[in-house]
Amino acid sequence: LALANAGVEKLHPYQPGKPVEELERELGISNSVKLASNENPMGLGPKAKAAIEQALPELARYPDANGFALKTKLSEKLGVNTNQLILGNGSNELIDLIYHTFVSPGQQVVFSQYTFIVYAMATQAHGAEAIEVPAKDFGHDLDAMAAAITDQTKLVCITNPNNPTGTFLSQAELSAFLARVPERVLVVLDEAYTEYVADDERHPSIDWLAQYPNLIVSRTFSKAYGLAGLRVGYMVAHPELIGVLNRVREPFNCNSLALAAAEAALGDEAYLSEAVTLNRREMARYEAFFQQQGLHYVPSRANFITLDLQRDAAPVYEALLREGVIVRPIAGYGLPTCLRISIGLEQENQRCMDALAKVLG
Ligand code: PMP
Repeated sequence: LALANAGVEKLHPYQPGKPVEELERELGISNSVKLASNENPMGLGPKAKAAIEQALPELARYPDANGFALKTKLSEKLGVNTNQLILGNGSNELIDLIYHTFVSPGQQVVFSQYTFIVYAMATQAHGAEAIEVPAKDFGHDLDAMAAAITDQTKLVCITNPNNPTGTFLSQAELSAFLARVPERVLVVLDEAYTEYVADDERHPSIDWLAQYPNLIVSRTFSKAYGLAGLRVGYMVAHPELIGVLNRVREPFNCNSLALAAAEAALGDEAYLSEAVTLNRREMARYEAFFQQQGLHYVPSRANFITLDLQRDAAPVYEALLREGVIVRPIAGYGLPTCLRISIGLEQENQRCMDALAKVLG
């Protein structure tokens, strides 16, 4: 540790949920349901699966280092040029790449309380100063975030819908905020869950890029597109900004199967629409259940919902585990009274609701 860069000593490894098999062995249970990592519960889509099978014979060769086919397809879908796109081994890799490329020790990064923990981790790892702005109603307080920008600020990170709370910023709030940010400050708009937002509510974030050369929109194939295990995400920004990121990006950072599957997934409208419809229907069921039980929750536009038990959530998490229902405690996000539940298949959600009713008595 003494040999590590400044800032690393204060870091702890990111704690994803334990693998299901390990948890089941520890608890002596089987047939558990995992509603903990905001994955697509439908599994791999048929077009992605076929594309993976088709790509198998080529695996002895390196992938296309520039992801030409996927970028072409994305550029058509989004209405941008391919030089405005960068692909990553998950959007997580690209977040890290932004820090590598643009954030130096001593500079400030502004983000909200209760937001995706990777922003705080990357800020720490790069020796930058975290300016964590207190949340408003479990979500971003954009006025306070704009006011927190100083001459030392290099980056502002916004997650919309937010993880782990699912809160959603209105278009008016967000565009007013962007207009307040000086051009020398980069803004990452993390839209990992954007596909779950209703079409008439989704922000024209890609259109904003023409106006804001300091804006970076981040998206992923890990959620609604169902490819979390393959690791593929992308960012969209001004060509100059993307060009700079490409100088630092590792060649071959996206593997061949991920590229092939993501391209196919983009063309699988039926799968995406089924995933979004399922999510909407099951979200409504959770809300009705929570209301009926008198439980507090944060209304969510994503594929998970955060329940606020208004008391230590750890014993409830443990009791749910014993019922074979794995959800995500979010004490590490500063929300020790809350549990985040990823929306699963109908039967999985039913098991979760039945277990909650039993455990909360
Ligand atoms: N951003 C947010 C807000 C997320 O919740 C996640 C996944 N938990 C990511 C980015 C990273 O996703 P991936 O690296 O799988 O693209």
